[in-house]
Amino acid sequence: MATSSTPPAALRASAPPAEWPERSGCPVHDLRRRLRDSGLRPTRQRVGLGWLLFAKGDRHVTAEILFDEASKARVPVSLATVYNTLHQFTEAGLLREVAVDGAKTYFDTNTGNHHHFFVEGDNTLFDIEGPSIEIGALPEPPEGMEIARVDVIVRLRRKGS
Ligand SMILES: [Zn+2]
Repeated sequence: MATSSTPPAALRASAPPAEWPERSGCPVHDLRRRLRDSGLRPTRQRVGLGWLLFAKGDRHVTAEILFDEASKARVPVSLATVYNTLHQFTEAGLLREVAVDGAKTYFDTNTGNHHHFFVEGDNTLFDIEGPSIEIGALPEPPEGMEIARVDVIVRLRRKGS
């Protein structure tokens, strides 16, 4: 049992872990604040996964992709934790879930209203840029319901395949 000889300044309760320096204008600081603002305690796992998700611009990831990235980045999480965290982020409005089919759910860091191309076989999902989709003749929602949003996934395949 080693007794700590850490200087008192480093023992302040507000001191962040050494690998996540908290300073003004720092993306990690912004991420922690974003988590707090969404009602999520910025635990080390959430910050680690959030960093992988939100630090590279708009992305579409599955739990498996994120788990793989976390392993490579040495963020110590299980696949179950990745799933839970993705769903917590989605419920908090930080991510949008895009269900491509029963087995494949993508999580989109762009929570704005937009549609997707999906390349079958490659399993890649990407945004359809611009207001290129016109949706007409939507069905009348049942009594007491309103349409929350319409997700369009345009499925692609390579020509000649
Ligand atoms: Zn998207």
